[in-house]
Amino acid sequence: MTTVAEAWALISERVPARPVETVAIDDAVDRVLAEPVRAERDQPPFDRVTMDGIAVSSAAWDEGRRSFSIAAVQAAGQAATTCPSGAACVRVMTGAVRPEGTDAVIPFERIRIEGDVAHVDEEATVAPGRFIHARGSDRRQADVVLEPGERIGPAEIAVLASAGRARVATTRPAAVAVISTGDELVAVDAPEIAPHQIRSSNDLAVAASLRRAHLADCSRTTLPDDPDVILKSVDALHAENDILILSGGVSMGEFDFVPAVLEQLRAEVVFHRIEQKPGKPMWFGLSGEGKPIFALPGNPVSTLLCMTRYVVPALRLASGLRPAPPEYARLGAEVTGPKHLTYFVPVLLGWSDDGVELAEPRPTNTSGDFSSLAATDGFIELGSGVGNHPAGTIGRIFRW
Ligand code: AMP
Ligand code: MG
Repeated sequence: MTTVAEAWALISERVPARPVETVAIDDAVDRVLAEPVRAERDQPPFDRVTMDGIAVSSAAWDEGRRSFSIAAVQAAGQAATTCPSGAACVRVMTGAVRPEGTDAVIPFERIRIEGDVAHVDEEATVAPGRFIHARGSDRRQADVVLEPGERIGPAEIAVLASAGRARVATTRPAAVAVISTGDELVAVDAPEIAPHQIRSSNDLAVAASLRRAHLADCSRTTLPDDPDVILKSVDALHAENDILILSGGVSMGEFDFVPAVLEQLRAEVVFHRIEQKPGKPMWFGLSGEGKPIFALPGNPVSTLLCMTRYVVPALRLASGLRPAPPEYARLGAEVTGPKHLTYFVPVLLGWSDDGVELAEPRPTNTSGDFSSLAATDGFIELGSGVGNHPAGTIGRIFRW
């Protein structure tokens, strides 16, 4: 059987990188940047006034001048004026270009205007560069201002806009078919449900997980435990999608047809079963065309765990997203798991008084007990080899 680390290594080596697509800046939000972005001009592009006030020559101030005749007004968006002499000043507004012949700004709070003369308060501090954001002091023209792999959020949009990038290269989200199998499954909105049936929740939970990751556009399909129907539908969905995520039908039961059907479709089995609890029956392979196929066990806790531990990280990797540093926490209470399997335990995250991240275990009754998952933050991964994990054990955290 495959270990957790081996399973992840096998997946990460095989999931192909997503193609690059250039989109309008408005459509780039939440996508992953696929090119370096360079500054269009120096940042700021000119010596920018940062306070409303007057611009003066600091040399004149140093020589003792405290009154300046107002020679001109310089607002934001106007080309630079020139201050005629040290005895004069220019009224300036935030965002204006520094007038020629001046090198310091005195804010309005420090001046009193009488007619066309500005009298400056003795307390004012006047020095070269005061209240002037110097040209190129943030970035130089052609400096890289955004690296590929960055998730595009509001701050990145502002940087793209300032670089004059109306269009930008991003990785294209994967088209994912989410396929649930099981004769017992009934849609969430079906008006009637028989005692022997259950509402299908995995497809919606998987879709929610994908939507939250902003890395895929997905469709949902529910299929009966009928190998012919599964074969036809999976074949058709494979043609229209980049990735398939199935849930259910991968265990050893008499009606678990998924692995056999996938092999009939000539998919290459990369692994089947992982040394972990829950989610042991997970199957992963590649179609003849090299498209990843994840077949997850149907138990809702297993499905969501496998999504979070393997599928979403695989999509992140394929998108070129900059890897997030792993998160670790200490177990807040002892848990006992299977000795020879990696044990995944749902947790509530919090902090100890001295600033250590704590994971309070919220073990589920069984891998079918997904009611207990609600309101947890994710799960902790506890290594195999020891069945007993005392409070304080450090484990890696995966958030839903
Ligand atoms: P299976 O992996 O098909 O053996 O299913 C294991 C358990 O998960 C069974 O109790 C199924 O009823 C349940 N299950 C399978 N698929 C779903 C689904 N889409 N939504 C909710 N529960 C499911
Ligand atoms: Mg089933």
